[in-house]
Parts: sequence; structure tokens; C-alpha cells
Amino acid sequence: MSDSSINMTVRQTEQFLHLYKPPAIDGNFKGKHIISVEQFHRQDLDMIYAVTKDLRQRIINHDPSLVKLAEGRLMASLFFEASTRTDMSFQAAMRRLGGSVVTASNGVQFSSVYKGENLADTVRAAGCYADIMVIRHPQIGSSYEAAYYLDRLNERITIPTAVISGGDGAGEHPTQALLDLFTIADLKNGPDNLTITLVGDLLYGRTVHSLAKLIGLWGAQNTTLCLVSPPSLRIPDTVLDFIVKHGVKVHETNDLYEVLNQTDVLYWTRIQEERFARKADYEAISDNFIMTPALLNQAPRDVILMHPLPRKHEMGTPHDHDILDKNPRSVYFQQMENGMFVRMALMAMVLGAAV
Ligand code: ASP
Repeated sequence: MSDSSINMTVRQTEQFLHLYKPPAIDGNFKGKHIISVEQFHRQDLDMIYAVTKDLRQRIINHDPSLVKLAEGRLMASLFFEASTRTDMSFQAAMRRLGGSVVTASNGVQFSSVYKGENLADTVRAAGCYADIMVIRHPQIGSSYEAAYYLDRLNERITIPTAVISGGDGAGEHPTQALLDLFTIADLKNGPDNLTITLVGDLLYGRTVHSLAKLIGLWGAQNTTLCLVSPPSLRIPDTVLDFIVKHGVKVHETNDLYEVLNQTDVLYWTRIQEERFARKADYEAISDNFIMTPALLNQAPRDVILMHPLPRKHEMGTPHDHDILDKNPRSVYFQQMENGMFVRMALMAMVLGAAV
């Protein structure tokens, strides 16, 4: 593909952000595409978290009826970008509900995309087979494009398909935000009355975009969001405006020590190296915020340390990882497990198998 046709593809995909408006959940998840946290309001979050807790308890109880929830239902997994947790947790979630999963054999690199098929046609192929499609793609707007074409496809085929975003370029990662907020609610009874500090790559980090907006949509009371990043990686103005409009107090800085000792939730992120056009720009800031055991010890005793993972050197050396992992304040493995519970709840609700 020539550079100019790649740019054309990117532009066309981004246009779907304006062409397609995701439906509000409004208390009813059934059959809805899930591509932005902006679809959720407080009542929807309360609903999905109640179902999440119920499903978690049923797993603990080895409830045999759990596998009836999605029995006979199929999830297609379309990952055009690297993933471990999101991909596996969606698959695990579907299987724990009794459903099945299809993927392109040997990955999408062996699908027709690499014969030159466009995204819309690949999406519609998977849409002909599945009840739910999970898509991750490097271009912003890709899940909107999928939703747009699936709506048209669904009018013409027997089994309608709902798309769930597993990460939309540097845009949003709605299910990560759902599981992050669940973790904050579960472990800190938040996000009300908390200081939540997001650190690292706030420009390209899609998880922080979605989480910040979701905290606003929760209607958080007495919550302060501290946004700590190098100046070149500030959170996009669109996200900032959104959270301020939703009444969240914001403190932006590039000095972690301005906010560390008031922090209740420390959300650390990786610099998204793959999104930088120039390696030199990445290298100029890649060592700015490094979590270490010594740094964590300077945070309040009851802080929780979250990270969407994968982690690289922004969480120190492999030896630092081992020490951080033993610290009860580090909750990223609980966060990861919560991802499966929340995705179980979401898919059961989208399938109409749980309310
Ligand atoms: N796994 C997260 C994502 O897909 C975070 C990351 O990659 O740094 O956005």
C-alpha cells in the first residue's frame, strides 16, 4: 500500500467518528454496539457492576448454570493490533458464559485483509457468523466504522451482530475503563471522594481517555483527577473539556510530587511507543516517569497502584517488578481478573442473557 493510500484509509476511518453516533445504553444493553464510554450513564454503570459482582460470586460458587448464559452463542475476535489481556479475557469471558469463540486461523494477518480487503468487508464477513464481534484496530474510528456497517448488515441477515471495541487506535478503550472503574469502586469505594492520579502517556493512552471520561459520567462527587505527564503528552483537550464539563476537579502537572502525597489511586501507564511518528520524540520522554518500589513507598499507605499493562521500563527493572508485585498496594493483577468479570457481564447483557 502506498503512503498516500494509507493516509486516505486513515482519514476515511476517522470520518466514522462523525458519521456514526453510538446509542446510549439507557438501561438496556441488549443488541447495542459498545464502542465508547460516552454511551454510559450512572444507572448503566450501577447495572453492569451489579451483574459483574453476581457473576464473580457465581464463579466462586462453581455455579453450573453460568454456562447456560451464552450457550450456543458465538463471539468473533478480530485483533488487528497486539493484545494479550483484552483478547484473552474476552475469550475467557465468553467461554465461562458457555459461548464459543471464532478467530481467523493463525490471526488476521492470514485473513483477506492482506489480500487488500477493506475493514468494512472483513467486519461484515465476521458479522455473518457471530452474535458478538470484538475488534481492536490501530486506527481511531475503526469500531465506529464496524458499527456503521454492521447496522446495515443486520437489516439483511438472520443473526444480528453487536460490536464491542477492544481498543480504537489512540482513541478509546471502553471495556478497559469499565474494568478500571469497577476496580476503583470495589477496592476504594470510589470514585467519589478520591484523588485519582493518572501518570504517563495521557496523549496516546486510550485507557486514560476512557477512564477519565467514565469518571465524569459516573457523576463523581468530590473527586480530583490529577493528570501527570510530560508537556508533550498532555491529555487531549477534547477529553479535558469533557471531564471538566462533568464536574470533575482537574489538576494538570508534569511534577508527580505536587500530587503524590494526596493520591488515593495511582494509575500508571506505558508510553505508547508504537504511536510516535519519530523515534527521537519517544526517546526524549521515555524515561520521564518510572515507578519503582522506592517511589511507591513515598505514596500514602492506603494508595492503590493500577496499571492497564503491558508494562515495560516505566515500572522499573524486572527486579523492581518482583518487589512491586509483592506490595499489597499493587492491584494490577486484581484489575486484570476484574477485566474478565466485567466483560462477562457486558457480553451477557448485550446478548440479553442477563439484566
Ligand atoms: N493494554 C492497554 C491498551 O491496549 C494499555 C497499553 O497497551 O499500554 O491500550
